[in-house]
Amino acid sequence: MNTLLSLLGLMFVVLFAAPAEAVQPPPPPLAGKAVAVGDFSVVPLLDGVHSFPLSLFQGANQATMLAMAGTSPVPGSFNVFLIKHGQERFLVDAGNGALRPERTGQLPLCLQEAKTAPEEISKIFMTHLHGDHIGGLIKDGNPAFPKAKVYVARAEYDYWMSEEAMGQTPEGRRGLFPMVRSVLRVLDRDKLLVFFAPGEVVSPGITSVALFGHTPGHVGFMLASKDKKLFFVGDLLHAEAVQFARPDITLEFDVDQPLAKETRLNTFKQVAKEAIPIATAHLPFPGIGLVRPEGDGYRFEAFK
Ligand SMILES: [Zn+2]
Repeated sequence: MNTLLSLLGLMFVVLFAAPAEAVQPPPPPLAGKAVAVGDFSVVPLLDGVHSFPLSLFQGANQATMLAMAGTSPVPGSFNVFLIKHGQERFLVDAGNGALRPERTGQLPLCLQEAKTAPEEISKIFMTHLHGDHIGGLIKDGNPAFPKAKVYVARAEYDYWMSEEAMGQTPEGRRGLFPMVRSVLRVLDRDKLLVFFAPGEVVSPGITSVALFGHTPGHVGFMLASKDKKLFFVGDLLHAEAVQFARPDITLEFDVDQPLAKETRLNTFKQVAKEAIPIATAHLPFPGIGLVRPEGDGYRFEAFK
């Protein structure tokens, strides 16, 4: 009887177990399609996939946001950008690295796919110093990109080094400070940090732009070559489904909410008027596209 039951059980498994491999979606690409910007080429790299619960957003009630987005959490990712110019190789931000292993930190694999060795990267432009942007700078306690100068806005560095700023931060988020400092210490030790003030040219064709709000020294980088432009805007926004239509909606992690809102409104207005594509750190990969006016707000026309 027992044997018969086992046999029936086995038949059930054989007949009803779904063939797992048949329903798996293909894995997302590690490196996206290159975007030409004059003499430059920009390759989007997917450090990891991530989604944002609508409960992190403020400025409209949850029901309104859910009606706009149709779902929560909203899809997103960690996007890093490789800039190629002749033999030069730069990065905009560096992803999570080993700081947040659950978020994958697959930048090294992305670079392999883009046929770029870590030693080839000579400059890394930091939009700000949150963990999901600086984690990839360090590998086993040493710089992951040993030959790269790391460009950080002075105001951003000063903020994370400030005891006063740390004291004013809600307790639950205060732990970010020692984490950021541990990364800066390694870069400082190896004399890899380069400070700039927003507005300064960080490399020929690449100008830093103040986009304060998300963090006190958050910046963007405007790449311009031969009448073409691409604006790296970092964490200017996090949720496509709500923040284009309602740029006044802020994220809980925006350090200065009113300023983040004002910066987003001003930037959308400018890039929509001048038709400058933006490259974002958290919109679904590759996170590059045009901001188009729509109704009282905007919509995103993503590059495919
Ligand atoms: Zn971020």
